[in-house]
Amino acid sequence: MMLQDKICLVTGASRGIGREISRLLAGNGAQVILNYNSSATAAQKLADEIIAEGGKATTVKADVSSREEVDEMFKFIRKEFKRLDVLVNNAGILRDNLMLMTPDSDYDAIMDVNLKGTYNCMQRAAKMMMRKQSGKIINMASIIGRYGNAGQVVYGGTKAGVIGMTMSAAKELGPLGITVNAVAPGLIETEMIDQLKDEFKAKLIDNTALKRIGKPIDVARVVLFLSSELSDYVSGQTIGVDGCQVV
Ligand code: NAP
Repeated sequence: MMLQDKICLVTGASRGIGREISRLLAGNGAQVILNYNSSATAAQKLADEIIAEGGKATTVKADVSSREEVDEMFKFIRKEFKRLDVLVNNAGILRDNLMLMTPDSDYDAIMDVNLKGTYNCMQRAAKMMMRKQSGKIINMASIIGRYGNAGQVVYGGTKAGVIGMTMSAAKELGPLGITVNAVAPGLIETEMIDQLKDEFKAKLIDNTALKRIGKPIDVARVVLFLSSELSDYVSGQTIGVDGCQVV
Protein backbone atom coordinates (compact mmCIF):
# COMPACT_ATOMS: atom_id res chain seq x y z
CA MET A 1 0.00 0.00 0.00
CA MET A 2 1.17 3.48 -0.93
CA LEU A 3 1.29 4.89 2.62
CA GLN A 4 1.90 1.73 4.65
CA ASP A 5 2.47 2.76 8.30
CA LYS A 6 3.05 6.41 7.46
CA ILE A 7 2.00 8.73 10.28
CA CYS A 8 -0.29 11.40 8.78
CA LEU A 9 -1.89 14.36 10.53
CA VAL A 10 -4.96 15.83 8.82
CA THR A 11 -6.28 19.09 10.30
CA GLY A 12 -10.01 19.78 10.08
CA ALA A 13 -10.61 16.08 9.52
CA SER A 14 -14.11 15.93 11.00
CA ARG A 15 -16.04 16.64 7.79
CA GLY A 16 -15.92 17.71 4.16
CA ILE A 17 -12.63 17.49 2.30
CA GLY A 18 -10.59 16.64 5.42
CA ARG A 19 -12.82 13.67 6.15
CA GLU A 20 -12.40 12.27 2.64
CA ILE A 21 -8.63 12.82 2.70
CA SER A 22 -8.42 10.97 6.01
CA ARG A 23 -10.43 8.02 4.69
CA LEU A 24 -8.31 7.75 1.55
CA LEU A 25 -4.96 8.00 3.37
CA ALA A 26 -6.10 5.42 5.91
CA GLY A 27 -7.33 3.17 3.08
CA ASN A 28 -3.80 3.32 1.68
CA GLY A 29 -2.20 2.06 4.88
CA ALA A 30 -1.56 5.29 6.80
CA GLN A 31 -2.01 5.75 10.52
CA VAL A 32 -4.16 8.89 10.43
CA ILE A 33 -4.37 11.44 13.21
CA LEU A 34 -7.70 13.21 12.86
CA ASN A 35 -7.58 16.77 14.14
CA TYR A 36 -10.83 18.57 14.96
CA ASN A 37 -11.81 21.73 16.78
CA SER A 38 -15.52 21.70 17.62
CA SER A 39 -16.79 18.46 16.01
CA ALA A 40 -15.58 15.88 18.53
CA THR A 41 -18.42 13.43 17.88
CA ALA A 42 -18.01 13.53 14.09
CA ALA A 43 -14.24 13.04 14.40
CA GLN A 44 -14.66 10.05 16.73
CA LYS A 45 -17.30 8.54 14.41
CA LEU A 46 -14.87 8.83 11.51
CA ALA A 47 -12.08 7.20 13.53
CA ASP A 48 -14.45 4.35 14.46
CA GLU A 49 -15.43 3.88 10.80
CA ILE A 50 -11.80 3.77 9.65
CA ILE A 51 -10.91 1.27 12.37
CA ALA A 52 -13.96 -0.88 11.52
CA GLU A 53 -12.69 -1.02 7.93
CA GLY A 54 -9.31 -2.30 9.14
CA GLY A 55 -7.51 1.06 9.15
CA LYS A 56 -5.62 2.97 11.85
CA ALA A 57 -6.97 6.26 13.20
CA THR A 58 -6.94 8.38 16.29
CA THR A 59 -8.44 11.80 17.09
CA VAL A 60 -6.87 14.89 18.61
CA LYS A 61 -8.53 18.18 19.50
CA ALA A 62 -6.81 21.46 18.69
CA ASP A 63 -7.92 24.84 17.45
CA VAL A 64 -5.19 25.34 14.84
CA SER A 65 -5.24 29.10 15.42
CA SER A 66 -4.13 28.60 19.04
CA ARG A 67 -0.38 28.15 19.45
CA GLU A 68 -0.92 26.51 22.85
CA GLU A 69 -3.39 23.94 21.50
CA VAL A 70 -1.19 23.20 18.48
CA ASP A 71 1.79 22.68 20.81
CA GLU A 72 -0.28 20.24 22.87
CA MET A 73 -1.32 18.39 19.70
CA PHE A 74 2.27 17.96 18.59
CA LYS A 75 3.29 16.89 22.09
CA PHE A 76 0.65 14.16 21.82
CA ILE A 77 1.94 13.10 18.38
CA ARG A 78 5.56 12.93 19.62
CA LYS A 79 4.50 10.86 22.64
CA GLU A 80 2.21 8.46 20.79
CA PHE A 81 3.92 8.08 17.42
CA LYS A 82 7.50 9.45 17.81
CA ARG A 83 7.50 10.86 14.28
CA LEU A 84 5.33 12.54 11.63
CA ASP A 85 5.56 11.67 7.93
CA VAL A 86 2.74 13.74 6.41
CA LEU A 87 0.92 16.92 7.45
CA VAL A 88 -2.24 17.91 5.59
CA ASN A 89 -3.10 21.50 6.58
CA ASN A 90 -6.76 21.33 5.61
CA ALA A 91 -8.61 23.23 8.39
CA GLY A 92 -10.20 26.39 7.10
CA ILE A 93 -13.19 28.70 7.42
CA LEU A 94 -15.14 30.80 4.93
CA ARG A 95 -17.27 33.84 5.82
CA ASP A 96 -18.31 35.42 2.56
CA ASN A 97 -19.02 39.12 2.72
CA LEU A 98 -18.32 42.24 0.74
CA MET A 99 -15.22 43.94 2.13
CA LEU A 100 -17.22 47.05 3.00
CA MET A 101 -19.53 44.95 5.17
CA THR A 102 -16.91 42.73 6.80
CA PRO A 103 -16.57 43.17 10.56
CA ASP A 104 -12.97 43.28 11.83
CA SER A 105 -13.76 40.24 13.99
CA ASP A 106 -14.40 38.19 10.79
CA TYR A 107 -11.11 39.39 9.31
CA ASP A 108 -9.30 38.22 12.45
CA ALA A 109 -11.08 34.86 12.60
CA ILE A 110 -10.44 33.95 8.95
CA MET A 111 -6.79 35.05 9.09
CA ASP A 112 -6.26 33.20 12.38
CA VAL A 113 -7.58 29.84 11.18
CA ASN A 114 -6.59 29.81 7.50
CA LEU A 115 -3.20 31.50 7.57
CA LYS A 116 -1.89 31.47 11.13
CA GLY A 117 -3.29 27.97 11.65
CA THR A 118 -1.50 26.70 8.56
CA TYR A 119 1.73 28.33 9.71
CA ASN A 120 1.41 27.02 13.28
CA CYS A 121 1.08 23.41 12.13
CA MET A 122 3.63 23.67 9.33
CA GLN A 123 6.29 25.07 11.67
CA ARG A 124 5.74 22.42 14.38
CA ALA A 125 5.59 19.61 11.80
CA ALA A 126 8.81 20.76 10.13
CA LYS A 127 10.60 20.57 13.49
CA MET A 128 9.58 16.92 13.82
CA MET A 129 10.24 16.03 10.18
CA MET A 130 13.73 17.59 10.02
CA ARG A 131 15.00 15.11 12.60
CA LYS A 132 14.44 12.24 10.16
CA GLN A 133 15.26 14.33 7.07
CA SER A 134 11.99 13.49 5.33
CA GLY A 135 8.39 14.56 5.29
CA LYS A 136 5.57 15.88 3.18
CA ILE A 137 3.46 18.94 3.89
CA ILE A 138 0.31 19.64 1.90
CA ASN A 139 -1.49 22.96 2.38
CA MET A 140 -5.09 23.59 1.36
CA ALA A 141 -5.28 26.74 -0.77
CA SER A 142 -8.16 27.64 -3.11
CA ILE A 143 -8.81 28.80 -6.63
CA ILE A 144 -9.83 32.11 -4.97
CA GLY A 145 -6.25 32.56 -3.70
CA ARG A 146 -5.03 32.50 -7.31
CA TYR A 147 -7.71 34.49 -9.15
CA GLY A 148 -9.77 36.30 -6.48
CA ASN A 149 -13.53 36.80 -6.16
CA ALA A 150 -15.84 39.62 -5.06
CA GLY A 151 -16.99 38.94 -1.51
CA GLN A 152 -13.91 36.91 -0.68
CA VAL A 153 -11.23 39.55 -0.11
CA VAL A 154 -10.21 38.18 3.28
CA TYR A 155 -10.62 34.48 2.43
CA GLY A 156 -8.79 34.96 -0.89
CA GLY A 157 -6.06 36.88 0.93
CA THR A 158 -5.50 33.96 3.30
CA LYS A 159 -5.41 31.44 0.46
CA ALA A 160 -2.96 33.55 -1.58
CA GLY A 161 -0.94 33.68 1.64
CA VAL A 162 -1.03 29.91 1.90
CA ILE A 163 0.36 29.64 -1.64
CA GLY A 164 3.12 32.14 -0.78
CA MET A 165 4.00 30.30 2.42
CA THR A 166 4.09 27.03 0.50
CA MET A 167 6.65 28.32 -2.02
CA SER A 168 8.96 29.80 0.62
CA ALA A 169 8.66 26.84 3.00
CA ALA A 170 9.49 24.49 0.11
CA LYS A 171 12.73 26.39 -0.46
CA GLU A 172 13.59 26.49 3.23
CA LEU A 173 12.72 22.87 3.99
CA GLY A 174 13.86 21.20 0.76
CA PRO A 175 17.47 20.82 2.00
CA LEU A 176 16.01 18.98 5.04
CA GLY A 177 14.30 16.42 2.81
CA ILE A 178 10.81 17.88 3.25
CA THR A 179 8.49 18.68 0.33
CA VAL A 180 5.81 21.37 0.65
CA ASN A 181 2.98 21.68 -1.86
CA ALA A 182 -0.46 23.23 -2.02
CA VAL A 183 -3.76 22.09 -3.51
CA ALA A 184 -6.13 24.73 -4.88
CA PRO A 185 -9.66 23.32 -5.14
CA GLY A 186 -12.44 24.97 -7.14
CA LEU A 187 -16.05 24.49 -6.04
CA ILE A 188 -16.27 21.33 -3.93
CA GLU A 189 -19.52 19.95 -2.52
CA THR A 190 -19.17 20.30 1.28
CA GLU A 191 -20.96 22.10 4.11
CA MET A 192 -18.63 25.07 3.59
CA ILE A 193 -20.35 26.12 0.39
CA ASP A 194 -23.89 25.91 1.86
CA GLN A 195 -23.54 29.66 2.46
CA LEU A 196 -23.08 30.41 -1.27
CA LYS A 197 -26.17 31.35 -3.32
CA ASP A 198 -27.48 28.65 -5.69
CA GLU A 199 -27.27 30.97 -8.72
CA PHE A 200 -23.62 31.67 -7.94
CA LYS A 201 -22.86 27.95 -7.67
CA ALA A 202 -24.70 27.28 -10.96
CA LYS A 203 -22.63 29.98 -12.66
CA LEU A 204 -19.40 28.48 -11.37
CA ILE A 205 -20.37 25.02 -12.60
CA ASP A 206 -21.27 26.47 -15.99
CA ASN A 207 -17.81 28.09 -16.10
CA THR A 208 -16.17 24.73 -15.41
CA ALA A 209 -14.98 22.77 -18.44
CA LEU A 210 -15.93 19.45 -16.80
CA LYS A 211 -19.48 20.79 -16.16
CA ARG A 212 -19.86 19.40 -12.66
CA ILE A 213 -19.18 20.36 -9.08
CA GLY A 214 -16.08 18.80 -7.48
CA LYS A 215 -16.39 16.08 -4.87
CA PRO A 216 -14.18 15.82 -1.78
CA ILE A 217 -12.69 12.61 -3.25
CA ASP A 218 -11.40 14.61 -6.26
CA VAL A 219 -9.27 16.66 -3.86
CA ALA A 220 -8.34 13.68 -1.68
CA ARG A 221 -6.82 11.81 -4.64
CA VAL A 222 -4.42 14.67 -5.37
CA VAL A 223 -3.51 14.86 -1.67
CA LEU A 224 -2.78 11.12 -1.76
CA PHE A 225 -0.40 11.69 -4.68
CA LEU A 226 1.35 14.52 -2.81
CA SER A 227 1.59 12.39 0.36
CA SER A 228 3.20 9.44 -1.40
CA GLU A 229 6.54 8.69 -3.03
CA LEU A 230 4.87 9.29 -6.41
CA SER A 231 5.53 13.00 -5.78
CA ASP A 232 9.05 12.76 -4.32
CA TYR A 233 10.49 15.30 -6.81
CA VAL A 234 7.52 17.69 -6.61
CA SER A 235 7.83 20.66 -4.23
CA GLY A 236 6.76 24.29 -4.03
CA GLN A 237 3.82 23.63 -6.37
CA THR A 238 0.15 24.53 -6.23
CA ILE A 239 -2.02 21.98 -8.00
CA GLY A 240 -5.47 23.13 -9.09
CA VAL A 241 -8.36 20.68 -8.57
CA ASP A 242 -11.12 22.70 -10.19
CA GLY A 243 -12.40 20.84 -13.26
CA CYS A 244 -10.74 23.52 -15.41
CA GLN A 245 -12.80 26.40 -14.08
CA VAL A 246 -12.55 29.41 -16.34
CA VAL A 247 -12.33 32.46 -14.07
P1 NAP B 1 -15.93 22.33 5.91
O1 NAP B 1 -16.82 21.25 5.42
O2 NAP B 1 -16.53 23.58 6.43
O3 NAP B 1 -14.94 21.71 7.01
C1 NAP B 1 -14.01 22.54 7.63
C2 NAP B 1 -13.17 21.73 8.59
O4 NAP B 1 -12.21 22.62 9.19
C3 NAP B 1 -13.98 21.10 9.69
O5 NAP B 1 -13.53 19.79 9.88
C4 NAP B 1 -13.65 21.97 10.91
O6 NAP B 1 -13.60 21.21 12.10
C5 NAP B 1 -12.25 22.41 10.59
N1 NAP B 1 -11.90 23.63 11.31
C6 NAP B 1 -12.46 24.86 11.22
N2 NAP B 1 -11.86 25.70 12.07
C7 NAP B 1 -10.90 24.98 12.71
C8 NAP B 1 -9.94 25.29 13.71
N3 NAP B 1 -9.86 26.53 14.24
N4 NAP B 1 -9.09 24.32 14.12
C9 NAP B 1 -9.17 23.07 13.60
N5 NAP B 1 -10.06 22.71 12.67
C10 NAP B 1 -10.91 23.67 12.23
O7 NAP B 1 -14.91 22.80 4.77
P2 NAP B 1 -14.32 22.06 3.47
O8 NAP B 1 -15.10 22.50 2.31
O9 NAP B 1 -14.12 20.61 3.73
O10 NAP B 1 -12.91 22.81 3.39
C11 NAP B 1 -11.67 22.20 3.74
C12 NAP B 1 -10.56 23.09 3.22
O11 NAP B 1 -10.65 23.21 1.80
C13 NAP B 1 -10.58 24.53 3.76
O12 NAP B 1 -9.27 24.98 3.99
C14 NAP B 1 -11.23 25.31 2.63
O13 NAP B 1 -10.86 26.67 2.65
C15 NAP B 1 -10.66 24.57 1.42
N6 NAP B 1 -11.46 24.76 0.19
C16 NAP B 1 -12.76 24.36 0.12
C17 NAP B 1 -13.47 24.55 -1.06
C18 NAP B 1 -14.91 24.15 -1.24
O14 NAP B 1 -15.51 24.51 -2.29
N7 NAP B 1 -15.51 23.40 -0.33
C19 NAP B 1 -12.84 25.16 -2.15
C20 NAP B 1 -11.51 25.55 -2.03
C21 NAP B 1 -10.83 25.34 -0.85
P3 NAP B 1 -14.58 21.45 13.37
O15 NAP B 1 -15.98 21.27 12.85
O16 NAP B 1 -14.16 20.40 14.33
O17 NAP B 1 -14.32 22.84 13.85
